[in-house]
Amino acid sequence: MIGFPVRHEMSGSCITIGTPVKNTVTGQSGTTTQISQPLQIKNMGYHGIYLPEANLLLDGSGVDAPTFITHAHADHVPRNRHQPVFASPATAALMRARGHSGPIKEIPFGETTSLPGSGTRESGDKRSGDNKSGHVRVTLFPAGHILGSAMVFVETDQGSLLYTGDCRVPPSPASEGFQLPDAQVDYLIIEATFALPIYKWQPHETLFDQIRDFATDSLSDGDTPILLCYNLGKAQEVMHALASCDPPVSVQIHGGGEKLCRVYEDFGVDLGRWEPYNRETLPGKVLIAPSSTLESPMIRDLRTRRIAYVSGWASLEVRASQLLADALIPLSDHLDFFELLDVCRTLKPRHTWLTHSPDPTVALHYLHQEGFSCSSLETERADDG
Ligand SMILES: [Zn+2]
Repeated sequence: MIGFPVRHEMSGSCITIGTPVKNTVTGQSGTTTQISQPLQIKNMGYHGIYLPEANLLLDGSGVDAPTFITHAHADHVPRNRHQPVFASPATAALMRARGHSGPIKEIPFGETTSLPGSGTRESGDKRSGDNKSGHVRVTLFPAGHILGSAMVFVETDQGSLLYTGDCRVPPSPASEGFQLPDAQVDYLIIEATFALPIYKWQPHETLFDQIRDFATDSLSDGDTPILLCYNLGKAQEVMHALASCDPPVSVQIHGGGEKLCRVYEDFGVDLGRWEPYNRETLPGKVLIAPSSTLESPMIRDLRTRRIAYVSGWASLEVRASQLLADALIPLSDHLDFFELLDVCRTLKPRHTWLTHSPDPTVALHYLHQEGFSCSSLETERADDG
């Protein structure tokens, strides 16, 4: 068990949720909404989301409280690499591969952890039979975003809350799948990166066919196929698609992804035939690298090359000219607009908060139209597509 010091008071944006009232104000520093039966949320921006009543920190750092990390992308892990955290086993392995040196308490999906919360309380609604008053129960559910990605389900005396982190349903085939809690979710904090109706994803297999065709066609024409995607999650999903190419292809991956690929294989994901990038032996193979390498000699010096950009953002045609890409393959690890609405319809929470959205107004409009109580919870996150 990891030991945590007692929490301390913080400044920052504080939002209280429960039964929402008219004057709900969200996302601005220092604003507070008065609502009955409160479950408080402190939006810490890059430092995560803090639940004072439960004394839990989600995807953050800088607070002395039990901290749950949803997945190993850089914008969700603590900046302090020594910080003790809770995470799924695969997220723990990926975080260690990326240099996290603090203790990580591994929590398998579906296993409930009981924590003391912010202190003892005189009374509670005893939602769960074995839930002591003031204690909180935390359970991780697979989020379908990347390997290890988890949604955090928190049960408190003030109600239950599901924090999705980044999520995807249908799930990435290179993840543990996607599963919602089989229990009432009173409050939902859900990512809304692609929450506009222009984003409607094609099925994974359709996009995987595009990836396989791009690779085999390029190779048969004597070009080196280059698939641009980020090192953790998307790269391994693309490799998993290429593993079933006919005829088989060999892959080289940018050095930053090598350790992460080994973790994926340790957790049983088939990545096919691959090796780290080697300039001398690259001809005749597929190269997978992040778009940040476009101007590097690794790609710039290749004379016969063909470039595909693989990301949800590839659904925007303008990205082809921005990245000098020959093909755009809109494979995303996030919910599209319609999938987001479906999750809300399934859970029917008392209140929903959208996070990570460049423009939440359209999704909020549609949710309001369907009778949902919802608002925006602004966060400052990177864009991993
Ligand atoms: Zn992510």
